[in-house]
Amino acid sequence: MHTGVLTGEPDDVLAARSIVKGLIYLPSAKPAFTAIERRSEAPSREGNPAVAYSRIPAPAASECAWCGHAFGAGDEHRNGRIRCARCGVATTSPWPSDEQLGQAYAPWYRPVAGRFSGVGDKVLKRTRSALATRLQRVLPQGPILDVGAGDGTLVDAFRRHGREAVGVDPYASGDHPHIRAAEFEEMTGAWSAVVFWHSLEHLRRPVRALRHAADVVVPGGMLIVAVPNATSMQARVFGDRWLALDLPRHLVHITPPALLSQIEDLGFRIEKVSYLRGGQVLFGWLHGLVVQLPGHPDLYDAIRRTEARQAAQGALFRAYTLAAAAAALPAALVGTAIEVAARSGGTIYVQARRTAAAVTQAP
Ligand SMILES: [Zn+2]
Repeated sequence: MHTGVLTGEPDDVLAARSIVKGLIYLPSAKPAFTAIERRSEAPSREGNPAVAYSRIPAPAASECAWCGHAFGAGDEHRNGRIRCARCGVATTSPWPSDEQLGQAYAPWYRPVAGRFSGVGDKVLKRTRSALATRLQRVLPQGPILDVGAGDGTLVDAFRRHGREAVGVDPYASGDHPHIRAAEFEEMTGAWSAVVFWHSLEHLRRPVRALRHAADVVVPGGMLIVAVPNATSMQARVFGDRWLALDLPRHLVHITPPALLSQIEDLGFRIEKVSYLRGGQVLFGWLHGLVVQLPGHPDLYDAIRRTEARQAAQGALFRAYTLAAAAAALPAALVGTAIEVAARSGGTIYVQARRTAAAVTQAP
């Protein structure tokens, strides 16, 4: 049985409190940005970002990145992605080359000094710390593997608790002692928990990664997944301008039924589902409301440090963007409350336990 959010457990009360923190509960320590190619071409505040992405020189996606279904006329073609008629998950299309993806993760976006201006980086660190503290109570004893560990903020937070934690990230800089610059499937071992914190949607073969997780998590161990919810109210309201569409870094746009059934099919028992605690929910509303205004101000860009922005911003335009965000806050809070109550929040969080008989063989 799935436990909803706000069930009155202490954890959920904490999650509810974090809704205000959510203003700066930023898209994780993972790449989640506007593509560098747009940095050099047109400023993102002109036109529609999904339409702009759909024009890159790359072949259309030929199959669903989630279920492998071959795309045809029966699938729903949208700007920058194709929605699978079989499983409901959308795949980014055109399908970017490794080089195009590499450009989208270029170092400008994650400068050594930090990404966010003001207290942003500190708040990000604190929210990762709070996440580690909460998971620390939930996860069984033993080592934790963070998939798509980015700059290691979550790994560091676990290690401050005395946990053995290792991260894996093909785009890792290589200078963090506990982050391996590798693909997840190259990691072996027996892990008490595997965490995909806003990373599954970045993978070319996310189901293969989940299957690998079922291989390396010990019986009784846990799988933790947080991903944007592609059928959330904010995804439907903001469409091509939804923050978490994030083309091309997000290669799959996952729905809760597809995610939950896949996890169960792999031999995990789902213990908790939340449409709030994956973070980014309130920020998704704020970003989506602000970007509707004249000039399409990009709030996510505006809160980043000057050197980490995808487009140059004048001080006045940035002030306008931040003021718009302050004005939009009440509406964003209402949107968040409604979608979370409707179990249609901007992210989905899943906590699942591996049963003794995990199914890890490819179909
Ligand atoms: Zn599919």
